[in-house]
Amino acid sequence: MPSYDFKCNKCQTTFSLTYKSFGAYAQAEQHLCTACSSSDTVRKIGRIALAKGDKSRLDALSDPTALAQIDENDPKAVGKFMKQLGQGLESDLGDQVDTTMDKMQK
Ligand SMILES: [Zn+2]
Repeated sequence: MPSYDFKCNKCQTTFSLTYKSFGAYAQAEQHLCTACSSSDTVRKIGRIALAKGDKSRLDALSDPTALAQIDENDPKAVGKFMKQLGQGLESDLGDQVDTTMDKMQK
């Protein structure tokens, strides 16, 4: 499950929220502070924790808009997405993504 770090603008608390899926995160209209329940919170960009997969690579490729369209519980859908990402990359990172996804699907 993806989790996101937020910071509360009201009490300055930093906290993490975990969502069932990327879609659930995308559909959430408010991300309430765990300390004061304020909805005046901002997501801290740059870190997405995943239960499986290559965290560092997905961090670099994290795009909430694109990820929201994926059912992370469907390995084939995730793999397809990652292959599409890999094909869009010019470096040999694309090959590495393919390799990673092949492992995940086995
Ligand atoms: Zn707060």
